[in-house]
Amino acid sequence: MAQYTIKRSCGHEEKITLFGKQKDRDWRMGQEREKKCLACWKKAKEDNPDPPQAILRKTTQGVEIVVLKSFEIKDQLKERGYHYKDDLYISEMAGPMGILGMGSGQKGWVKIINEEGPLMAEVDFLEGVRAQIKIRQEPGATLAGMFEALLEGRPEFLP
Ligand SMILES: [Zn+2]
Repeated sequence: MAQYTIKRSCGHEEKITLFGKQKDRDWRMGQEREKKCLACWKKAKEDNPDPPQAILRKTTQGVEIVVLKSFEIKDQLKERGYHYKDDLYISEMAGPMGILGMGSGQKGWVKIINEEGPLMAEVDFLEGVRAQIKIRQEPGATLAGMFEALLEGRPEFLP
């Protein structure tokens, strides 16, 4: 166990405590650098009680991640290889969330991932920016293996 002082994405420094192997610590530190410091996160939350929304859905090319309400994190998304689209179609989502805009003409950032490791890393990033994550299960489709791994211990991602 060791304490590290890292620079957060907001530019402030913060102390974090990390455990485990050096390799894992290095990886975690990279993740932590993407996040805002606690004070900035609290402030952002007060200013914007409406967090980014991330929808994961299965496509023929892989898992498509669609991030909506993304203004706060648009630079980070761009850097991570997301593409902006203003013609997204998001069909109505069942469940208590009554989530998001429905229908066509939605604006958001999109990225397609087709490997489990990068998908996990992407979800870590999204959790780091406090996005609300939901998995969109297409009617009739079974969960892909990648989703099953992702959902282990995180049933809250399902609508
Ligand atoms: Zn800060």
